[in-house]
Amino acid sequence: MSSVEYCVQDVMQVCRNGHVITDLLRTCPERAQTHCDRCGAVTLDHCPTCGHELPGAFVVPGLQPVGARPAPCFCERCGAAFPWTRQRRLPPREPVAILENLLRRLPDVVRQLRVRHDARPPFRVRDERDLEDLVRALLPLHFDDVRPECRTPSYAAGTRTDFLLAPENIALTIKWAQPRILEQVPEDAAYYRRERTCRTLVVFVYDPESLLREPYPPPAATEEGPGPEVRCLIGSL
Ligand SMILES: [Zn+2]
Ligand SMILES: [Zn+2]
Repeated sequence: MSSVEYCVQDVMQVCRNGHVITDLLRTCPERAQTHCDRCGAVTLDHCPTCGHELPGAFVVPGLQPVGARPAPCFCERCGAAFPWTRQRRLPPREPVAILENLLRRLPDVVRQLRVRHDARPPFRVRDERDLEDLVRALLPLHFDDVRPECRTPSYAAGTRTDFLLAPENIALTIKWAQPRILEQVPEDAAYYRRERTCRTLVVFVYDPESLLREPYPPPAATEEGPGPEVRCLIGSL
């Protein structure tokens, strides 16, 4: 007969903040605490939802278990999250916040790309096209479905490429700062109002020479109906 057949699983006691009191509650009942000795919270040894005991250490007679098990996150019987799991779980981040965070760090990325090993030529971002290429390379780090959106606005000499984050309903347009560039934004917003492809239009203006200082007032809705929410970010070195 192998020792595995003697092996029984003990019960764990955990405080409501997730501190493991003991995972040998049956074998060593003297270790039980009604309140946590680290934070004072009340302790529990069963699932508050279904009453199933919290699984503790595997006990083999004659052998002392080594190392404490971490508190489980979810009940193995009913799947409910334990009180400490709900506390630790962070709220999901909004896609717009993720995108804006990436864009705020873009000037730092541009700066880092200049530093190369030995005498290798630096990666330089010299114009709007370079910037578009860089953003196209970085967006898949956070977004699964990035679609180029080619259009020819009246203010541009040629075609420009925006990025459509399709599942998130976000359009991103990238600009290189020049005087009065923010006057282009109402035309961008009007384009996406017509296309109805996004709920949010994020305008990122890269401003390495700090030409723009004023926060941009979002364009007002027109009689054509409300357009996308326009958010304007200026990134300077
Ligand atoms: Zn505690
Ligand atoms: Zn349960």
